[in-house]
Amino acid sequence: MTAVATRYETVIGLEVHCQLITKSKMFCSCSADYARADPNTHVCPVCLGMPGVLPVINEQAIEYIVMTGLALNCRIAEFSKFDRKNYPYPDLMKGYQISQYDLPVCSDGWLDIAPEGAGPRRVGITRVHMEEDTARLLHRTDAVTGEGYSLIDINRSGTPLMEIVSEPDMRTPAEARDYLVRLRQILRYIGVSEANMEDGNFRCDANVSLRPVGAEAFGTKVEVKNMNSFRAVHDAIAFEEVRQAGMLDRGERITQETRGWVDDTRETVSQRTKEHANDYRYFPEPDLPP
Ligand code: ADP
Ligand code: ZN
Ligand code: MG
Repeated sequence: MTAVATRYETVIGLEVHCQLITKSKMFCSCSADYARADPNTHVCPVCLGMPGVLPVINEQAIEYIVMTGLALNCRIAEFSKFDRKNYPYPDLMKGYQISQYDLPVCSDGWLDIAPEGAGPRRVGITRVHMEEDTARLLHRTDAVTGEGYSLIDINRSGTPLMEIVSEPDMRTPAEARDYLVRLRQILRYIGVSEANMEDGNFRCDANVSLRPVGAEAFGTKVEVKNMNSFRAVHDAIAFEEVRQAGMLDRGERITQETRGWVDDTRETVSQRTKEHANDYRYFPEPDLPP
């Protein structure tokens, strides 16, 4: 037990985004094999977000998410629908992402973990839903003027992305890592995703909070992004445990915020606080049948 663990209990919930191995994109017939192609070669009016085009649901992607839900002991919805998640960003061609809001394909599952040297634990799976990935931005600096600029590769836009949300059931960095290792193993075994963190087709956001040992209520959570390895996830949570314990010991309040993991300095830094929380204005996608 660490010094922190004698005073506080850590509460962790993970959100994993993973790319599905389909031939075509989620809502058009462009090849989904974006990584091995020249930039902006797998593009059509649908994934470019041109007005007036109509998306069509990729049947293989739905089969894969149902397989994932079954492997994670989820309830598979008899009725599911897609929703528009609205936000403006240069990597989002349409100005909205097609995602799922209140009626995901899978919900209420679980995954058993057993990290080395600790007892087994059942981690609840809140939901697994289907969405589309965004384009890729590449940030560069002009060699002559020193000015920064960005390039965009639309190949990844509209490729099938599956989000797996866990309950806040993990208590240590080791449990979080074990959850990811077992989840990756399942996704690879059933053949739905390459699930490779280094390649970016398996991405994880970690929600971390602390509460006094014995307390019932959860503390305020911080969401950490940008980890590109299991070790980074483990170390980012361990860093947050110490940082948040220090704040609580000094009588400071934890503010809900998004933080980014910096691999070089091995610390998390604030990216945005709750005042700037997004209002996504979700509404049912009118161009896709439930
Ligand atoms: P948000 O509305 O901020 O997206 P959600 O309730 O949807 O929050 O939860 C997102 C993720 O955060 C889930 O994986 C969940 O298990 C986890 N989570 C929620 N509350 C806490 C908490 N107090 N501490 C740690 N993780 C949490
Ligand atoms: Zn396309
Ligand atoms: Mg959420």
